[in-house]
Amino acid sequence: MAHRITLIPGDGIGPEVTTAALRVAEATGVSLDWEVVQAGEVAIRESGTALPEAVLESIRRNRLALKGPITTPIGSGFRSVNVALRQQLDLFASVRPARAIAGAGTRFPETDLVVVREATEGLYSGVEHWVDREHSAAETVNVITRKACDRITKFAFELARRERRRKVTGVHKANIMKTTGALFQTAFREMAQQYPDIPSDERLVDNACMQLVKRPSEYDVIVTTNLFGDILSDLCAGLAGGLGVAPGALYGESMALFEPVHGSAPKYAGQDRANPVAEILSLELLLRHIGEAEAAERVFRAVWETIAERQVLTYDLAGPGSTDQPVVASSCSAMAAEIARRVPLVDLSRPRPAYHPSSKS
Ligand code: NAD
Repeated sequence: MAHRITLIPGDGIGPEVTTAALRVAEATGVSLDWEVVQAGEVAIRESGTALPEAVLESIRRNRLALKGPITTPIGSGFRSVNVALRQQLDLFASVRPARAIAGAGTRFPETDLVVVREATEGLYSGVEHWVDREHSAAETVNVITRKACDRITKFAFELARRERRRKVTGVHKANIMKTTGALFQTAFREMAQQYPDIPSDERLVDNACMQLVKRPSEYDVIVTTNLFGDILSDLCAGLAGGLGVAPGALYGESMALFEPVHGSAPKYAGQDRANPVAEILSLELLLRHIGEAEAAERVFRAVWETIAERQVLTYDLAGPGSTDQPVVASSCSAMAAEIARRVPLVDLSRPRPAYHPSSKS
């Protein structure tokens, strides 16, 4: 029976990168039945609301979604659809692997770590207001609950055990935020005691940023609160080659949504220039989640081989901004076609391409 999946194309480059992912999905031969729903700017035009109830109903029904990025107006305008989706569907665990695929576009080819971010509360709680009529002062409430800290730290330790990761680092700012930070820190420490087989340590978020850009291989699984996780996962995407190659997943108790770390990159919208890999690797995570391990592995290796061969690459991996020898940039659709072409040809009997061998020492 086909897996029924909600598809949200999104805004900006979203429709281009989700079309790319669908092309690769088709190449796997897995029977997938896409239910397309609109959120964001298209939905506002069609139905007057950025997050129609039909979108939430579709995800609740299918328990599975693939999503393109959605624009959030800066400063004013409608509330973030992305934040609302996470809160309303209780998609509490944002998992963002940062993997230096074929070592492309990065000075740190050994980068292979995972950021686990609490996605429903913290400074993204949406509880904020102007303090006075003149708008000269404002407050945002940092909501941290023990329940959310317990479930995100448990999620991180379970992920580390399942994926045979070597340690979990809790990242916070408990020296300054003596209630919210300390609550997360206490929950992390108590959860760590329940996983004596998994080494753990802690870092203050500022120190973690500095150490990550100097020695990313010292980190493996990072677990943290919402805002710190948002920032750290973009930083780690940069270590792994850029936003164009950084996939993501959001897990709740009974449903999951897969989307790239990047946003809608409006300046590239409609130009067929965006890198489709982050969306395609989000599809890879989805396939693993539904038990289609072989198809997922084919997608992963087809991406790896395409990037390693350096013949068909979008501008971000091809051009002078890249750390590798420049090549002529290909379009989003050409790179997707190349990855899709390779999917059925992948030789699974060959060893999986390894990240830098020293990274797991
Ligand atoms: P962005 O990730 O959209 O783009 C930042 C820069 O990264 C781009 O200018 C581009 O140079 C590069 N980039 C991003 N994706 C790329 C890709 N696939 N290929 C090649 N280069 C890529 O971040 P932004 O400009 O800060 O945000 C734009 C909009 O996206 C905002 O409205 C923001 O709220 C939204 N956003 C949505 C999500 C989401 O839907 N989950 C996530 C982040 C940002």
